[in-house]
Amino acid sequence: MDWIRLTKSGKDLTGLKGRLIEVTEEELKKHNKKDDCWICIRGFVYNVSPYMEYHPGGEDELMRAAGSDGTELFDQVHRWVNYESMLKECLVGRMAVKPAVLKDYREEEKKVLNVKGGIKYGIQHSTSDVFSPVTSCNLDPGPYKIGTHLHIYIFSCLFLWAYLSLCGMLPKSQVTDTLAKEGPNYPSYDWFQTDSLVTIAIYTKQKDINLDSIIVDRQDDSFRAETIIKDCLYLIHIGLSREVQEDFSVRVIESVGKIEIVLKKKENTSWNFLGHPLENHHSLIPRKDTGLYYRKCQLISKEDVTHDTRLFCLMLPPSTHLQVPIGQHVYLKLSITGTEIVKPYTPVSGSLFSEFKEPVLPNNKYIYFLIKIYPTGLFTPELDRLQIGDFVSMSSPEGTFKISEFQELEDLFLLAAGTGFTPMVKILNYALTDIPTLRKVKLMFFNKTEDDIIWRSQLEKLAFKDKRLDVEFVLSAPTSEWNGKQGHISPALLSEFLKRNLDKSRVLVCICGPVPFTEQGIRLLHDLNFSKNEIHSFTA
Ligand code: FAD
Ligand code: NAP
Repeated sequence: MDWIRLTKSGKDLTGLKGRLIEVTEEELKKHNKKDDCWICIRGFVYNVSPYMEYHPGGEDELMRAAGSDGTELFDQVHRWVNYESMLKECLVGRMAVKPAVLKDYREEEKKVLNVKGGIKYGIQHSTSDVFSPVTSCNLDPGPYKIGTHLHIYIFSCLFLWAYLSLCGMLPKSQVTDTLAKEGPNYPSYDWFQTDSLVTIAIYTKQKDINLDSIIVDRQDDSFRAETIIKDCLYLIHIGLSREVQEDFSVRVIESVGKIEIVLKKKENTSWNFLGHPLENHHSLIPRKDTGLYYRKCQLISKEDVTHDTRLFCLMLPPSTHLQVPIGQHVYLKLSITGTEIVKPYTPVSGSLFSEFKEPVLPNNKYIYFLIKIYPTGLFTPELDRLQIGDFVSMSSPEGTFKISEFQELEDLFLLAAGTGFTPMVKILNYALTDIPTLRKVKLMFFNKTEDDIIWRSQLEKLAFKDKRLDVEFVLSAPTSEWNGKQGHISPALLSEFLKRNLDKSRVLVCICGPVPFTEQGIRLLHDLNFSKNEIHSFTA
């Protein structure tokens, strides 16, 4: 909040009196001291000296990128932080394009133009699909006829692309991505129509695709479908040529890796073409290079769970299909006194019991969060002030946890501290219902006091109902009446708790809580001979 106040004070934070300049690499290098520190992130240069004392990771972390391009370092640590908004008053200008970079782009451009036939072939599915008329219900539209206007369009796009690249206005990855749209494994898409429906079919060419793998957002005439394919996103991004209704359906044919999105036309007329390509349309982009996409969700309910933790229920817009996979988190975004603030949160199920009935809505429209409100925190007090019916922006999911970690699992150990319990909720639900090989689940839940334990009675009831589950509460600041375990995570507590059912049983230990808790836990687990593959730690 102090930083936000300073940015609003009107103080000149760049030392350039509001001017924006072009920064050469030589110039950037000169600004490498604490009191004169410039850092480049994604082509934009910021004077971060005034921000030093407010940086949560400390000055030394920021100084690692002093006078240089800190994009990679930034992405490694907190790609999700909305630095454009946080640092907007520190913007010095953009990097001047280097001659070497210019040469690269010219060569890329030459390659693009030289493989004209290849490009036609490579983008056949995208551009011709977008433009060419396809007969009703025709899954195999036959050879595409690309009209002269299309050639003109393609070449205009290429020249515009090359021009923007030359101006340094597009990140390099997008330029190379455009070139990679060939080859048998590149995803593609198609569309077909009936009188009332338009179906967009995505061919991922992968078999491990499910409803979690596809995120669809429709806003006004823009249609956006992100398909997660391994560590990349395949993006379909189109300005639709005609109006469609708000809701749509999504179907995945796992055996062939095909996704069908069925849109309902507003008018029962034949469409001549699907629409026009928007930014990054038909691109396969490494996930680490994609920005986070947000949609506005409505607050449906808010319920006290402990004295400081609440269960928030958000509703996705009807024009969104999104499912948060087990163990993944999303980012919530609010504008706080004009600055966009983003924090990560892990969705939970509405309850630990599978018989819990969510309000009836198709496509899992409700997303639940257990969120602790810190009275002196930046984000949570603002979130807590939202009224039912208000909106908060929510990103697409992220995270490294994969359900395949549960394969043939026999013993599951969960170590959670405070709200570090949140990823364990869906894991518990899933483990007890969907892992046939599972013999035992043990949760060790660390809190300060009894009043801080989230869903204590639900956990006790679940352990009573399902004998495979054991729950152990450990308190660091208990009252004198507490006769359970006390203290912090320690070798003694863990060695007693983490007993394998059988000597060679297939084990997974999940750990989540304050960063030092998690780090110490991982060290102790290694000391107890748990291998890297047997441990999953949840971090941002
Ligand atoms: P902050 O402003 O970050 O402050 C938090 C506390 O630290 C406050 O008590 C504040 O006074 C204190 N503090 C802040 N700055 C300083 C300082 N410089 N010196 C000393 N004290 C300071 N939380 C949940 O409740 N539920 C979840 O599901 C959840 N999921 C998460 C998933 C991930 C992947 C990660 C990384 C975190 C998750 N968190 C979750 C934590 C969440 O992202 C926020 O960190 C948390 O809500 C606090 O945000 P805040 O802005 O309100 O507080
Ligand atoms: P908390 O109530 O402050 O702490 C919970 C328990 O952990 C307490 O017993 C506490 O003991 C103990 N603890 C704290 N720091 C410790 C340390 N260094 N070593 C050993 N034990 C320690 O926790 P909280 O406020 O709910 O915070 C939860 C944390 O989990 C947040 O940092 C949040 O970011 C993180 N989280 C991460 C994810 C993820 O996916 N990565 C998801 C959810 C939450 P004391 O009494 O001594 O403090």
